[in-house]
Amino acid sequence: MQTRAKTAVVIVAAGRGSRMGDDAGPKQYRMLGGRSVLQRALDFFLTEGEISQCVVVIHRDDGDLYRQGTVEHDKLLEPVSGGATRQASVLEGLRALKVHAPQNVLIHDAARPFVDASTIARVIGGITPQQAALPSLPVADTVKRGADGLVVETVERNGLYVAQTPQGFDFPTILAAHESAAMKGLDSFTDDCALAEWAGLKVALVEGNRDNMKITTRQDMQAAQAKTATAPDIRVGHGYDTHRWAVGKSLWLCGVQLDHDRGLDGHSDADVGLHALTDALLSAIADGDIGSHFPPSDPQWKDARSRQFLEHAARRVRERGGQITHCDVTLICEAPKIGRHRDAMRAEIADCIGIEVARVGVKATTNERLGYVGREEGMTALATATVVMSHVG
Ligand code: MG
Repeated sequence: MQTRAKTAVVIVAAGRGSRMGDDAGPKQYRMLGGRSVLQRALDFFLTEGEISQCVVVIHRDDGDLYRQGTVEHDKLLEPVSGGATRQASVLEGLRALKVHAPQNVLIHDAARPFVDASTIARVIGGITPQQAALPSLPVADTVKRGADGLVVETVERNGLYVAQTPQGFDFPTILAAHESAAMKGLDSFTDDCALAEWAGLKVALVEGNRDNMKITTRQDMQAAQAKTATAPDIRVGHGYDTHRWAVGKSLWLCGVQLDHDRGLDGHSDADVGLHALTDALLSAIADGDIGSHFPPSDPQWKDARSRQFLEHAARRVRERGGQITHCDVTLICEAPKIGRHRDAMRAEIADCIGIEVARVGVKATTNERLGYVGREEGMTALATATVVMSHVG
């Protein structure tokens, strides 16, 4: 019986992720649905029967991150430290495999956590001693060449492919090609197939997978988190506020100025409806409350229009990746009558938050002359806000 070819894997995880635009650390160690990006990529290979060993090339500063985010496995070798370029890092990984003498090697970027078993199988199937295998997809969009913000030409896309990983090679052949390129000081190959082409190897195009995305930007990370979310992340925030009636003040409710014989007392314009709604939005993202964002002790908020508080809260929600899908405010007072102002209030809130009026409810009730509301000492507002998060965390 013929023994099956041994295939080892090098996973390159030494990058710094400088295009993420934040400081949450290298992307390969961030969590996606309970597992790190790197672990997700690793798991596809470690569970494959044809794979004999995996080695991960890490940045020398990432030893702790690697140990925290990676589960031990029989096939998983000790990580090795990478070099100054991606190409140098791959070479370190290949050298670490030498002692195991695999027949084939797959070289994969840790930033692609959605590789799948059939892509891996197609790549392995395309490898021969003289031929590398490249998972790829035909270019679907029209491609332009540009310079200085202007299109120079439309590139014929027929015959153009985008390259993915894992890329597959005969192990001794690609190791020799990498060593030879390093010796000649050639260090700018952007992928291993480019290096193989330079070394004179044939590269077979095998079918890639559109799901096998590469996480480069923060937006990519959010898309990856959405893909791995097990349930929609819907948050409901609640807010409550009460203000005392005061003669000689103007009355603002839900962003609308009402003609009434008194107003509400407060440091700002005392818009009890917008205050409750601001708290509901902040509460939906667990981001403190109106008092922590706009302290009443701060003179700059004296007589301030409460609209800016609500705008601020809506912006905070959007910055966290939240979409406000519904708001509801209940005003509790004996007078004035709210009904004829309801649509103006809904329009004001919708405009302030940036959602359709149909997603904003405003209603009012009296308190049947009971309690402080009934005695017209003060009025109360209750609010809820529903937020759908586009990513987890
Ligand atoms: Mg208030």
